[in-house]
Amino acid sequence: MIKSINPATLELIGEVEETPVDKLEEIYKKAREAQKKWAKISISERAQKIIKVNEVISTQFDEISLLISNEVGKPPAEAFVSEVYGVADSTFYYYNNVADILGGEKEVSLGFYESLDKHSIIMRKPIGVVCVIGPYNYPFTIPFQQIVQSLLAGNSVVFKPSSETVLVGQKIQEIFEKIDIPKDLVQTVFGSGSKLGNPLIDFADKVIFTGSTATGKRIMQRGANTLTEVSLELGGKSAMVVFPDANIERAILAARWGVFTNAGQVCASVKRLYLHEEIYDYFLERLVILTKELKQDIPTKPNVDVGAMINKEQLDWVHKAVQEGIDEGAKILIGGKRNPNLKGYFYEPTIIEANDNKMKIVQEEIFGPVLVVLKFDDTENVINMVNDNQYGLTSSVWTNNIDFGKKVAEEIDTGSVMVNEVVYTFALAATPWGGTKNSGIGRSHGKLGFYDVTRPLHINIDKYKEPDLWWMPYDEDYDEIIENFKNIASSLVVKNPK
Ligand code: NAD
Repeated sequence: MIKSINPATLELIGEVEETPVDKLEEIYKKAREAQKKWAKISISERAQKIIKVNEVISTQFDEISLLISNEVGKPPAEAFVSEVYGVADSTFYYYNNVADILGGEKEVSLGFYESLDKHSIIMRKPIGVVCVIGPYNYPFTIPFQQIVQSLLAGNSVVFKPSSETVLVGQKIQEIFEKIDIPKDLVQTVFGSGSKLGNPLIDFADKVIFTGSTATGKRIMQRGANTLTEVSLELGGKSAMVVFPDANIERAILAARWGVFTNAGQVCASVKRLYLHEEIYDYFLERLVILTKELKQDIPTKPNVDVGAMINKEQLDWVHKAVQEGIDEGAKILIGGKRNPNLKGYFYEPTIIEANDNKMKIVQEEIFGPVLVVLKFDDTENVINMVNDNQYGLTSSVWTNNIDFGKKVAEEIDTGSVMVNEVVYTFALAATPWGGTKNSGIGRSHGKLGFYDVTRPLHINIDKYKEPDLWWMPYDEDYDEIIENFKNIASSLVVKNPK
C-alpha cells in the first residue's frame, strides 16, 4: 500500500494499493482497445461527453479543495483558485475550441503540382495511448488538463500521479468514472517512478511528463529506445525584473505572492528578483515587512497564507541549498530555517540577498519558499543576467511603459514572459505552456497543446490521367522534360525579394 501523509499535521490520511508492474501490459492493452472505439466518435460528441466532468466537479468544489489541501499542504482556498477552478475553466475552453482546432480537413496549395491535378489534405489524428506522469505540487490541475486535451483529441490515457499525491490521483480517476466514456479510457496507476517508470514509457505511444529536469532527461533517454514522443514540463528559476517606473506597490505584492504561493513549490514561482538600483532599498524593505505579516500554519486553519512543504526530504533539500547560499556569501533578510513552532514540514518564507549572478543559489532551482534578490542598473545587463540560467520557463518584466516592457520581453529566453504579472499564465488554457532550455520541450494548453497530442495525417489525392512526367523511361523525351523543368525552376528565381 502507498500511504498518504498530510505534510502539515503528519497524520495518515489514506492509502491506495500499489499497481503491480506486471499488470501494466494488460492495462495498456485495455487502453488501446478503448482508444480504438473512442477515436471513431466525432470530435463534437467526444467534447459533449468530456464536458460532463465540470458537472461532477461542481458538486465537489469544497471536497476536492480540501483533499488537495490535506495531501499537499496548501490552503484550501488556494487549492480551489489555482487547481479546481483551473480545471473547470480550461475544460470549458477545450470543449468550446477543440473542434475548431482539430476538426475537419485542410486543403493546401501545391503550386506547380496542382497543374498535374494533384491535391493534398491535412488532418489531425490521435496518437494512441498517452501516458501522463504528474508531479506533486499541482496534483489536480496539471494532469487533469493534460488528460482532457489528450482525450478530446481521441487518445486514451494511462495516468500515474506522484506517490506523494495518490489520493488526488484517485479522485481524478473517480471523476472520469462518473462520466459516460468507454471503460478503460482513463486508467490511473499508483507506484514509484523507479518501479513503474520504464514500462510506462515502453508501452506508451506518447508521454507527457511534468516534474524535475533530472527525471525528465531520464524519461527522454528511455523514450529513445522506442522512439516514443515525449513532452517535458520541467523545472524553473523564474526571474522578475522591476524597473523604476513600475507600479511598485503592486509589484511588491506580486513578488510576495509569486514566491510564497504553494510554499514556493511552483515551477513558475518567482525565484529570482532583479530590482533596479533606484528602487532597490525601498522595495526590499517593504517586501520584508509584508513577508513578516504572512501567516504560516496548518492550512485548514482560518486566514493561513503559507502552508507546508510536501515532505522532509524536500524541506531538508531546500534548507541545504539556503545554507550553501550563505556559505557563498548570500545574506538572509528573513526566514532561512524550518518553522520551529509547527511540527509539520513548514519552511519559513525566506528572502535572500545575493551579490553575484553566478552564485549557485541564483542559478539552481530551489523548490521551496525561497526568493533570491539581486540589484541591477542597466537594461542590457539585467537581460543578460536573466538569460544566464539553465532554465527558461517563465519570467516577468515590470514597467509602466508597455512598449518598453514588450521589447525587453522579446529579449528574454523563456517560454512565457509576463509584463506586469507573475506566475499565473499556467491558468490560461488558450495560450501555450512550456519552457526553453532545461525547462523542457513541447507545449501543453491551447492549439499547440492539442497539436502535441495528435499527429498530422497528410492524404495526397491524384486525379491526373496520364503517367507522371518524371517517371521512367529516362530516354530522349526525358531531355525535353528536364528542359521544361529548368524553365519552371528559372521562373522561381526572385530578383527583388520583398
Ligand atoms: P519528480 O521528477 O520527482 O516526479 C515527477 C513524477 O515523475 C512523479 O510522478 C514521479 O513518481 C515520477 N517519476 C520519478 N522517476 C521516474 C522515472 N524514472 N520514470 C518515470 N516517472 C518517474 O518531480 P516532483 O518533485 O514531483 O515535482 C517537482 C518538479 O516538477 C520541480 O522541478 C518543478 O519545477 C517541476 N514542475 C514543472 C512544471 C511545469 O509545468 N514545467 C509544473 C510542475 C512542476
